[in-house]
Amino acid sequence: MTGPIRPSRPRQAEQPVRQQSLRSINLELVFRQILGATHPISRTELAAVTGLTRPTITRIVDDLLTGRLVTETGFAHDGRAGRPRVGLTISDRGPAGLGLDIRADGLAAGVVDLTGTVRHLAFAPATYADRGAPTVLADLARMAEAAVAAVAAEDLAVVTATLAVPGPVDAGLVRSAPALGWRDADAGTLLRAATRHLDLPITVDNEANLAALGELYATHRSLDSFVYVSGGLGIGAGIVLDGQLMRGSRGWSGELGHVTVYPDGKPCPCGSRGCLQTYASLEAILGAEPAPPGSTPDAEIAARADAGRPDTLAALDAAGTALGVALSDMLNILDIGSVLLGGSFSLLASWLTANVRTEIDQRVLTTDWAPVTVRPALLGPDAAVIGAALTSVDQVRQQPAGWLLRQPGRSGPARSRQPAKRSG
Ligand SMILES: [Zn+2]
Repeated sequence: MTGPIRPSRPRQAEQPVRQQSLRSINLELVFRQILGATHPISRTELAAVTGLTRPTITRIVDDLLTGRLVTETGFAHDGRAGRPRVGLTISDRGPAGLGLDIRADGLAAGVVDLTGTVRHLAFAPATYADRGAPTVLADLARMAEAAVAAVAAEDLAVVTATLAVPGPVDAGLVRSAPALGWRDADAGTLLRAATRHLDLPITVDNEANLAALGELYATHRSLDSFVYVSGGLGIGAGIVLDGQLMRGSRGWSGELGHVTVYPDGKPCPCGSRGCLQTYASLEAILGAEPAPPGSTPDAEIAARADAGRPDTLAALDAAGTALGVALSDMLNILDIGSVLLGGSFSLLASWLTANVRTEIDQRVLTTDWAPVTVRPALLGPDAAVIGAALTSVDQVRQQPAGWLLRQPGRSGPARSRQPAKRSG
């Protein structure tokens, strides 16, 4: 058998798929216009800016209203002559994203709605060092449940969750979180099992990366290149360059805590010597006297520093110097002009910043022409949980058609159902 190979009857077989995908593309186009509009936008304006016909816009807007992705805001003039038109805006009562964070000083849960507004933020102080993953995640599951219930009372439905963990993540596995005593911990599966009845898709990601995304959002992208340094359970960095998070080829970038500061220095649990973490972790700053029960490590350090304890002030000086040395290498390589001190470091910034700046000024080649700014992160210790919740809700914002398809009792944007039925 020779001759060209032709698929048999390709058009009929592919048509429903293509129609479905075209409808999804148009729905996403319309949704993005409403998302990006600085004022409530009318159906007439949507038709004008997208080039879609008025009946298509009407169908798509009906789907978006049914899925509670957008809402009508009442009548608004759109700047033209004639009668006022119904304005459309992003809904603050529909799908929402959940963020969960395991911190040095406890567990946090937060919910962000589609407009990007934080609607729920809860924190439970506890010490989780050397607690097993099942225990920590069972506690976190209870906080997730409470968060979902709290926002349900405000007519919000949590549809997806992101867990922030202090270590490199590989397909849901936390490869290494020494401060928690975790290695190859299947945090995604454990949390999914513990929250089974909530039926949420769960993503696991590195906390410094999520915190950097939170800061990027909080600064309204006015700062588009920065290193976010997260101090807490270990030290991590989220690197944002030209508005994009640099994850690295395997998603493991930013392990700042294991940058060598003093080659012959103190041994680190990672097997190396003189890592930043051995000088600037909360544990290192606390020294031989851990935080007493009922106090968190960062609050305890701040209290000792406020009281003028010489050992604590000296440890903070050493931590700031080590942090500045490690960051200088990073800044020389990456050409980034801003450092945000986040996590527990945002609470300790007043004691760390001067030494960080001194080292950077001395070691980064280009500071004579372009000084590097060092300041506390805007979201403070909540950056990771808010970044996680934003990342969750962003999945809906990026793929509104996919979200509508997953809604119970729906097979997608309303008019797409017919071709699907016909072919099946
Ligand atoms: Zn190390």
